[in-house]
Formats: sequence, C-alpha cells, structure tokens
Amino acid sequence: MSSVTVVEVGPRDGLQNEPVLLGTDDKVAYLEALAGAGLTRIEAVSFAHPRLVPQMADAEQVMARAPRRDGLSYIGLVLNARGLDRALGAGVDEVNVVLVATETFSLRNQNMTVAEALTSFSAIAGRASGVRVTATVGAAFGCPFEGEVLAEHVAELAWRCAESGADEIALADTIGVGVPADVRRLVAAVRERTSLPLRFHFHNTRNTGYANALAAVEAGASALDASSGGIGGCPFAPAATGNIATEDLAYALRRSGVGTGVRIDRLVSAAAFIGERLGKQVPALLGRAGDFPPEAASPSQPAQGAAPERRGSGRGAVG
Ligand code: ZN
Repeated sequence: MSSVTVVEVGPRDGLQNEPVLLGTDDKVAYLEALAGAGLTRIEAVSFAHPRLVPQMADAEQVMARAPRRDGLSYIGLVLNARGLDRALGAGVDEVNVVLVATETFSLRNQNMTVAEALTSFSAIAGRASGVRVTATVGAAFGCPFEGEVLAEHVAELAWRCAESGADEIALADTIGVGVPADVRRLVAAVRERTSLPLRFHFHNTRNTGYANALAAVEAGASALDASSGGIGGCPFAPAATGNIATEDLAYALRRSGVGTGVRIDRLVSAAAFIGERLGKQVPALLGRAGDFPPEAASPSQPAQGAAPERRGSGRGAVG
C-alpha cells in the first residue's frame, strides 16, 4: 500500500484565517486532540508579527505547552530571519519558510521582492541547522494580483530553494484556483529541476482541493497539508472556506488504499472541538455524514433471526 504524510495545518493556517481569537488554553487543547489522532507533523504556529497576525501572538506560549510525543514533529511558519530566531527559540522541530511566486504578492505578503525572498530563504536555511526546512512556494497555482503563474517559474524557485538547502518543497495553492491538470503540470516541471520530497497545500476555495490532493498523491507527493474541520479561509475570497479538511482527506485516502496512520474518528472529534470553540459549523463533511463503512456496523452481521432496524416511514425516505 502506498502512503502519504498528512500535515495538519489547522492550528496555523486554519486559525489565523478565523475571525474568533482563541486563548492559549484552547489552542493547546486543540493540539492535544490532534496529537491524539496520530498525526505526525503539525504546523502549530506562525512567527509573524503579532500586529499582522493577531491569532499567532501567543506562538511561544503555545509551543511551550504543546504536547510532546515520540514521532510527532511541530512546524513553525517563518517569513523572515526574525521569525526564524523566534521559531528556534520556541523549540520547533521544523520550519516552513514561505516565498511567494509573484512579485506583487511577495511584496504584499512579506514586503520583499522574489529575489529578496530567495536571498532570505538561503540565509534562513543556512542558519536552521538541526531542524527540517521546508520551502513553501505560495501562489504556485495562481496569483490574486498577477493571474496565471507559469509552472517553469515555480520550478525555477523550487530549484533555487533546493540549492540553498531546503529539505522539502511545498507547492501552495494559496487562493484555491488549481485543478488536477495543474498539479500534474507543476509536478512534471518541478521534477525536471529537483528530486526533493514534494508537499502540497490546497485550499478548497473552488471545491477542487480534494481532487488536487488525490492527483498530487498519484503524481508522487510525499506530504499533503490539511486543516481539521477544514477551518480557516482565504484572505482573497472572503466568503470562501479554508484548507481541505483533514478528516475528509483521510477518508478519501483510506478508501483509495493510501495509508496515513491517522485516526479518522479522533480527527472528527478534534474538528468538533475547534468548531465549537470558534462558534461555527466546520465545513468538513465527514463529521456530518459519518464514516463509511460505519465503525460499529463493520464487520459484524445482524444476529441470527434479528430483523434489520426499520427507520423512517418507508416511503420517500430515500431520495
Ligand atoms: Zn494556506
């Protein structure tokens, strides 16, 4: 059976795009629920300026209290050298460094040109010894300001990051515009330039996120980002939902014969917890529809002579 690592980003990308500010206790409880679901990589915090990302203002406190387990790795998102210092001081196991594929978005997101972001990445990767360094290319599938992004351009950025010491390349569909054909095109282009492990980050903004994730697995991705409950949003599409949901993704992968090692029932519980804390119904669908086959019904059969339970009126119950 093939396998893929699910990287949980609800505590970071999910929460930072939610309007309700949570306290540290709730964030730590959320991490405990996620760790209990068997996830092995959790992007727990971002080391952005608290004025720009208020939800992440307590990143150090969250990391200090995050539950530690063998085999569980915590990732901190980093935008610059100052963020790296904070991340290393807070004891993260990995840093995820973001560069954006286009000039306009790069300047708006982190006040750097793409060339400056590449130089910054190189410096960060050089100083981040002892922790895994991921280079995330943001807006790899399209830019809210500049439109289409060429796969060859993304591949060039990935190669530059690989040369600078990245351990992993993540391709992010930051605004959720990609489709599976884009995934295949990007993987082919990037594979021409680097053999580093590939991770993907999909938002379900236009309902293509799960198809993209499955296409990425078929194209050889080793890791997929997802947020439990599908919490979060898209800053460039205010009415949109967030990342693909961890439990819905895990369901699709399990039914496709792709191993993830996660407990779907516990993911559903974690999503229910964070939805309750955020005061919203999470967009994920597995918690509403239920797993299949239902855990209690499989593999047992009805007892001899017992009639199946009747539900509904028998007329018009199935539409
Ligand atoms: Zn994102």
